[in-house]
Amino acid sequence: MGEQAKVVIIGGGIMGCSLAYHLCKEGWTDLILLEKGELTSGSTWHAAGQITHSVSHYGIAKMAAHGTDLYPRLEAETGQSTSWHGCGSLRVAYDDAEVDWLNYTLSVGRGLGHEMEVIGPARIRQLHPFYNLDGVKAALHTPNDGHVDPAGVAFALAAGVRQMGGRVIRHRRATGLKQKADGEWIVQTSDGDIDAELVVNAAGTYARQVGRWAGLDLPIANLLHHYLVTETVPEFQDLPRELPVVRDDREVSGYIRMEQKSGLIGIYEKANATTVWDDGTPWEAENELFEPDFDRIMPWLQNAMERMPVFAELGIKRVVHGAITHPPDGNMMLGPSGVRNFWQCCGSQVGIAWGPGAGKYLAQWMVHGAADISMASFDPRRFGARIDERYRIEKAKEDYLLRHEIPFPGLDRPGCRPSHSKISPLYEPLKARGAVYQDVYGWERPHWYARDGVAREHVHTFRRSVVHDMVRAEVEGLRKGAGIADISAFAKLEIHGADAEPFLERISSNRLPRKAGSLTLTYFVNPNGRIEGEATLLRLDGDRYYLVYAAAREAMLLNWLEEQRLAGEAVTFQNRSEELGVLMLAGPGSRRILASCTPASLDNTAFRWLSAQEIEVAGVRNVRAMRVTYTGELGWELHMPLASMARVHEALMAAGGRLGLTHVGSAALNSMRMEKAYKSGHEITNEVTLAEAGLTRFARSGGFQGAAISLAAPERWVIAFLRLDEPEGDAPLADPHGSESIWLDGRCVGSITSGAFGFEAGAWIGWSYLKPQFAAPGTKLEVMTLGRSRRAEVLDRAVFDPDNLRARA
Ligand SMILES: Cc1cc2nc3c(=O)[nH]c(=O)nc-3n(C[C@H](O)[C@H](O)[C@H](O)COP(=O)(O)OP(=O)(O)OC[C@H]3O[C@@H](n4cnc5c(N)ncnc54)[C@H](O)[C@@H]3O)c2cc1C
Repeated sequence: MGEQAKVVIIGGGIMGCSLAYHLCKEGWTDLILLEKGELTSGSTWHAAGQITHSVSHYGIAKMAAHGTDLYPRLEAETGQSTSWHGCGSLRVAYDDAEVDWLNYTLSVGRGLGHEMEVIGPARIRQLHPFYNLDGVKAALHTPNDGHVDPAGVAFALAAGVRQMGGRVIRHRRATGLKQKADGEWIVQTSDGDIDAELVVNAAGTYARQVGRWAGLDLPIANLLHHYLVTETVPEFQDLPRELPVVRDDREVSGYIRMEQKSGLIGIYEKANATTVWDDGTPWEAENELFEPDFDRIMPWLQNAMERMPVFAELGIKRVVHGAITHPPDGNMMLGPSGVRNFWQCCGSQVGIAWGPGAGKYLAQWMVHGAADISMASFDPRRFGARIDERYRIEKAKEDYLLRHEIPFPGLDRPGCRPSHSKISPLYEPLKARGAVYQDVYGWERPHWYARDGVAREHVHTFRRSVVHDMVRAEVEGLRKGAGIADISAFAKLEIHGADAEPFLERISSNRLPRKAGSLTLTYFVNPNGRIEGEATLLRLDGDRYYLVYAAAREAMLLNWLEEQRLAGEAVTFQNRSEELGVLMLAGPGSRRILASCTPASLDNTAFRWLSAQEIEVAGVRNVRAMRVTYTGELGWELHMPLASMARVHEALMAAGGRLGLTHVGSAALNSMRMEKAYKSGHEITNEVTLAEAGLTRFARSGGFQGAAISLAAPERWVIAFLRLDEPEGDAPLADPHGSESIWLDGRCVGSITSGAFGFEAGAWIGWSYLKPQFAAPGTKLEVMTLGRSRRAEVLDRAVFDPDNLRARA
């Protein structure tokens, strides 16, 4: 028998080394880490090596924290030097929006136990006497940040792998992959084949080439980034301590720190981003750097010199101009690829900082079927746009240019939209009515409608804005009369086959609908009891089912369902997401509007709540009408071929013109679902069980995989529904955006997942996960919002029509 291993990881940069180390820690030591040159000879060796807690994304904040925890102790554990410099850092802010961002980061990070503080210029000057603070209003001080020798930490992780029994093989290149009939792999290499159960692509700038061997076309491009090292700075000679790293997003668009007694300046230019190796990274490339391009970075380099006058007269002794991988949205690609037994661990633009955490949580996912944090924003199957060369490169450049911009909530990324988007035939007509679109899994979905002279453009802020009033008008229009929404982005899947029923019984929590035309809400559960997805499940007839679920999870859930099918099981999947469009019609007037466009009877006896029928609407036959909506009102979802949408929409609008019909976007739907206490993909992730997510009423007592674990009483955390008091005094008029920490008596007891302002309730309401002992209804808590405390109370039920009288009307 030839060489074999349970896992082969292709690529010995920081990402591959970290994954190998953490898989060994999880007990999977039968692995081979393959590196074609020396370890770190791709992008890793030339990184500047900084790590910061100044990140507001919950998952990335957890990953960064693992880095600052692991690196300082790795040297003692492995005997390999890592050069940890715990100098702390400062992120400076010049205007109110930047200060809001710092306060948002603080609201998330403090809850995770990260030491951080927003400080004013006087304190900044004490910490960093050399930085020119003209115009600086504040800074986020994160004292436990630092920087490392990137090659040193990767070598140390690899040393740890060897010590735990894993194999690290250098100077051996993977040259191809062959999948065997049983789904396992033959990894072809420059020195013979290796049989592997699982293969992981950690090939950095080669990840696209390696992905192609598995039939994948990864949307990653390589962007060039500079840092420069000055001559020795005389003023640094006798400093008793190392200065904190400064991140200056506006003026420098980058970072400045000490490198021994020299200065180091890294710049993410805000124009003319440049890619390299668009057609593939040469296999012979090793420790590759590029000629500096000073013209490209000059405006920001000049600003850097103005900010650090002690650098101004010094020469530059070293320039590092190297390649970094960027996916379209900037998040790493960590997880199953969609091809069986082929995993991704690539697309990393901040690998030194996030690599340790990425390896830790990916290893958990591979070994245990789920990680301790939600991995949805890193899932490699999250891209739904029509990806081609132009998209891949333009979106990566866009991401690079955003690296030092404020990551506003719902930040719009306009590149290649709608040219590469999925659009319904209503795209232009709704735009003409004021629709401001958002991207969801490559679909253009109306987010809100600009009315009354308000500009039809995205509003980027952490505070309440004019959008709040626009959404209020949409909600009121729907609740008083009727509302219509294009919700075509939903994933739509048919499941057929003689074994469809036992298949669904095995993996989903709720009782299957027995009669044709009945529907139910159900949850897919993995063998470890964690939730893989939520769907509305309609029985079409005997062994045919129709599933409707969140757009963002289209490929992820379909891929997971395919993998649940047992050998020989007669189950087929038909993804109808791009064939069918969906209009939601809801509100007290919706029955009258729909009735004037259809011969079908719509009263409660003929068409009951939670049922579906194929009806004719505006002369379009076989419109699949489902009496459910996300709004808590009487209403229907109308599923039909995309080509029929314009006709049905026009007819409903004509009828609605007489009766009152308002166009609503996803922001209004979100507000209404919160008042009904409906959950979303922010709450329902594969880090939680049914009991933790408060979903046991949608579950049988057993008979589905993972049931016992999923239904067991929560111990780690449990979902709780919160209502916040309005901001008082000089507190900013701002609401939580997700991930904010929740406090009781000075202790962090949980965090926010999602929420919205409820216009009936007159308050912001949202979901959170709390330590179970603090989740009882009536408990009074505090939610940190933009750095300030807001009073909150745990509620026991929906704030709007908790008995569903309106939906049943
Ligand atoms: C100038 C600069 C400064 C940076 N500063 C920072 C910073 O301060 N902090 C930070 O966190 N990040 C920083 N980065 C980013 C960081 O370098 C990358 O995010 C990180 O190194 C990516 O690691 P990786 O393991 O994905 O890729 P790589 O390091 O490129 O590793 C991939 C490895 O796979 C190997 N390989 C590929 N194909 C095969 C094959 N077929 N067979 C065997 N081996 C193969 C390659 O040889 C390579 O060694 C910086 C980047 C640049 C350019």
